[in-house]
Amino acid sequence: MLDTLQPLCSRLDPKSVSFDAGEIAPHIQDWRAQYRGSSPVLFKPSTLDEVREIVRFCNTHAIAILPQSGNTGLVGGSTPQGEVLLSLKRMNQVRDVDPDNDSLTVEAGCILESVQERAREAGRLFPLSLGAQGSAMIGGLISTNAGGVHVLRYGMMRDLVLGLEAVLPDGRVISDLSGLRKNNTGYDLKQLFIGAEGTLGVITAATLKLFPRPVSTAVAIAAVHSPRDAVSLLSLMKSATGGSVAAFELMSERALSFAIEHVPGLRQPVETPSPWYVLIEITSGEAERAPVLMESALETAFERELVQDAAISQSQAQAESFWLLRESIPEGEKAHGKAAKHDVSVPVSRMPDFMEEATQKAEALIDGAMIVAFGHVGDGNVHFNLARKAPGAEADFLTAAKPASALIYDLVDKYGGSISAEHGIGVLKQDELAARKPVQVSVMRQIKAALDPHSIMNPRILLGPERGS
Ligand SMILES: Cc1cc2nc3c(=O)[nH]c(=O)nc-3n(C[C@H](O)[C@H](O)[C@H](O)COP(=O)(O)OP(=O)(O)OC[C@H]3O[C@@H](n4cnc5c(N)ncnc54)[C@H](O)[C@@H]3O)c2cc1C
Repeated sequence: MLDTLQPLCSRLDPKSVSFDAGEIAPHIQDWRAQYRGSSPVLFKPSTLDEVREIVRFCNTHAIAILPQSGNTGLVGGSTPQGEVLLSLKRMNQVRDVDPDNDSLTVEAGCILESVQERAREAGRLFPLSLGAQGSAMIGGLISTNAGGVHVLRYGMMRDLVLGLEAVLPDGRVISDLSGLRKNNTGYDLKQLFIGAEGTLGVITAATLKLFPRPVSTAVAIAAVHSPRDAVSLLSLMKSATGGSVAAFELMSERALSFAIEHVPGLRQPVETPSPWYVLIEITSGEAERAPVLMESALETAFERELVQDAAISQSQAQAESFWLLRESIPEGEKAHGKAAKHDVSVPVSRMPDFMEEATQKAEALIDGAMIVAFGHVGDGNVHFNLARKAPGAEADFLTAAKPASALIYDLVDKYGGSISAEHGIGVLKQDELAARKPVQVSVMRQIKAALDPHSIMNPRILLGPERGS
């Protein structure tokens, strides 16, 4: 393949190509060290024209491309297995900030944290927020339709994108970075690329929605008996605060204890030990209003015995320390050892029944295993992971856990849910998707064949190879 690529490499700026194994190494392993791959070359274009040149050349020579942004994806979708790597990391310019239009146009390689910062400097909020925000980039966040902790109030990435610039496999560019909120001119093509996991083209830039910054914020951690009480508490908080709940995260005691055990500087947030905790964030456009709303809503919750103990942040630093507990759970889980991960969603009202039935059946099925649950319960999304109770061989555990995954996905279907709430399909869930949504997958294949007839864009990801024909 290197011989074939030679004419392309000699035309590109030398800074845009690397064959250096040391430079390629961090790009061929995923964040959880669950997937390891290879790539003959790392392309690092810094302009739209360079991306077009690389994609057009690969299309002509039927060479598969894997676009990569921050490489924090959790479903094996960002690890190449021989494809050429196209990293967007050098396309990291902010092209336009327009506070009057509440919009911001950035290139695909901008890191989420820096986008939040640019919005803040403009006196606005870009609300997408998640644990990997120091590394995840706009192109990857759009390609996976990322969620995070503020979906309850602001929606997923799909709701936050006003327009896109994307390079199609034949080198044509779809571009709509005008920042319009109203534009009824037929199919909304940008939505095809959002959540497509790089299978239809390369996203090079996006215009994102901005919002007014909240004037006051309050964060609390409350101890609750069960997910059922957590869902009742969510309803109460929403109505008692006039819809001011910006985040509502559920954490099992096990999930929290992994974080406290493995991440330095964390400690129990409330005195009363409890099997479940929720982190609640209330925001308001009025000064000092959020803490007042939080206090009075929690008082009602105590009276109704939905909450056994609670701590309300008294400072910005304390609010951040509460969030750090929640954000440290994936790190703590990783340190505990490999787990069978299930990023699933069901309607919020059905979450307690789903969690009870799935916990009881999965733990009964797999010896020495326990469910570690946490996540964005305000959106009906729980990370419902099966971990080892005691140390042991990791590969053996993941193999042994497979029947539990099938059982959990069957229960997700039973409760009207989705087998991927926010992380996507990648390679991890291809078989499950193909088996459970055959019509959806066949329509997606038709769309892919129309846009990418030589199947050069991420050919192993999301849809994978055609099955059973
Ligand atoms: C600690 C931690 C916490 C996380 N928390 C959350 C969470 O709360 N919510 C959530 O939704 N996710 C979460 N994630 C998952 C991850 O951060 C998201 O999936 C994120 O959107 C991936 O962005 P990235 O830039 O790292 O993309 P990558 O991992 O580089 O790529 C992801 C996918 O998009 C494709 N792609 C990348 N860039 C482009 C492009 N420019 N054009 C076309 N295709 C492209 C890749 O080929 C791949 O299939 C978390 C991950 C970690 C490690």
